[in-house]
Amino acid sequence: MTTDLSIIVPIYNEQENINKLYLRLKAVAEGMKVSHEFVFINDGSRDNSLALIKELAAKDSSVKYINFSRNFGHQIAVTAGIDHVKGNAVVIIDADLQDPPELIPEMYAKMKDGFQVVYARRRRRAGESLLKKFTAKMFYRILAGITSIDIPVDTGDFRIMDKVIVDVLREMPEQQKFLRGQISWIGFKQTYVEYDRDERHAGETGYTYKKMIRFALDGITSFSNLPLKFATIAGFVVSGITFLVILYALYARFIAKDYVPGWTSLILAVLFIGGVQLITIGIIGEYISRLSANVRNRPLYIKSDTNIEGEINTKCFTDAEGELQEFNAIEEDVVEGVLSFLV
Ligand code: UDP
Ligand code: MG
Repeated sequence: MTTDLSIIVPIYNEQENINKLYLRLKAVAEGMKVSHEFVFINDGSRDNSLALIKELAAKDSSVKYINFSRNFGHQIAVTAGIDHVKGNAVVIIDADLQDPPELIPEMYAKMKDGFQVVYARRRRRAGESLLKKFTAKMFYRILAGITSIDIPVDTGDFRIMDKVIVDVLREMPEQQKFLRGQISWIGFKQTYVEYDRDERHAGETGYTYKKMIRFALDGITSFSNLPLKFATIAGFVVSGITFLVILYALYARFIAKDYVPGWTSLILAVLFIGGVQLITIGIIGEYISRLSANVRNRPLYIKSDTNIEGEINTKCFTDAEGELQEFNAIEEDVVEGVLSFLV
């Protein structure tokens, strides 16, 4: 049996929102007269969220859940949902009711008009701090400016996607998930509907500034090499200036013979070059750390239990253990290989 609509909901400490969200989602899905499933991903919540989700699952068989072994982050929670949904259309929605479920029928209808992705674009965001709005606005503009793909501005992950998009997403192995960028990159026909973003219904944001900065850097490094090129360009500019200064210094010393032990200029030059070098190394480090994360190829997330059929119920540990053992085996092979080379 096929499912028409799957709805992915990442959950991190949302105990005050889950029941209300479920009721609104259920009303919408039933109103649309489509077969549906809800996939709740509990991303290591420290509150009562998991118990509430399990209660819903016991009452309603369309409620599926995946429980993570710890907090892996919003994008990874959504990725786990993408890996497990069955629907021909898939919605990603936040649990805090900032994204109104009632917009889904409009998005669904638009998709049926021949689009593969319909995202929801925020006209206005209520109840968020000025700093958050400003940084978000700046970020989307900068990202749009320095990437070659068309990442829509002022859009979160609230969207509906056709199964073809979901299938491609499952094939994209990168560890740094910046889903809205990946989805734009996939292409096909994409469009949007506009809405006013509500205030968070209850609870607090799970996105700390630390998580936001990480997310922004993931977005930039996944979709742009401009920062790397900036390092090169800065290197050339600084080297050019330095060359001129060297010529002048030689001229002053040997031809004009008019020189003072120039502590000021010396220190300025040292500081300046030191600064540029640090920036450059930092940028390279950002990319290298992501390269190494991808080379390590760890599983993106670890499930501790789930009620999704075909998945091992509880005891997914053995699964993860099995994978880990495999990794160890590979590492040992490499070590042995290197040793045999040296000996
Ligand atoms: N979330 C998550 N893991 C995290 C942080 C957030 O699964 O580490 C979920 C959260 O429960 C919500 C969605 O991601 O459903 C968006 O988070 P939030 O509302 O805190 O972000 P904001 O809207 O403030 O950007
Ligand atoms: Mg929110």
